Amino acid sequence: MVSREKITPDMAKKEVVRICEISDENIVDCMQCGKCTAGCPAVHGMDILPHQVIRLLQLGQIDQLLQSEAIWSCAACFTCASRCPRAVDISKIMEALRLTLVRVKGNNRLDIEKVPKLLDKNIPQQAIVSGFRKYVK
Ligand code: SF4
Ligand code: SF4
Repeated sequence: MVSREKITPDMAKKEVVRICEISDENIVDCMQCGKCTAGCPAVHGMDILPHQVIRLLQLGQIDQLLQSEAIWSCAACFTCASRCPRAVDISKIMEALRLTLVRVKGNNRLDIEKVPKLLDKNIPQQAIVSGFRKYVK
């Protein structure tokens, strides 16, 4: 996991706004009905459930989210989006949270020589794909 400085409330607010901008989702629309979590096929690997991810964002508790396993467990299957009565697409929010970590200054470039070593490790495939998206020679 990428190390980060302690996030202050002001920084948290800005990061929540940025995550909403990256994902183009409106977290205020979520009414915490739990239908997303009830249909999610990846909840067994999540320490924070999909509807709880939205709630923590609403509360500005971004630090807890960025340290969670849940954002790496999401399979981007869109089941949550198809079930949501308020049209909230959590997969886009999960991706925005992953990008927030990948784009941390100093951690936003993937050295191509290191890729074979990364592939030997048991890291989430999303991390590798996100790394490639950010790769610049
Ligand atoms: S299904 Fe939609 S409204 Fe219900 S908890 Fe999930 S994101 Fe929120
Ligand atoms: S997109 Fe992610 S959070 Fe949504 S149902 Fe699929 S695995 Fe669960």
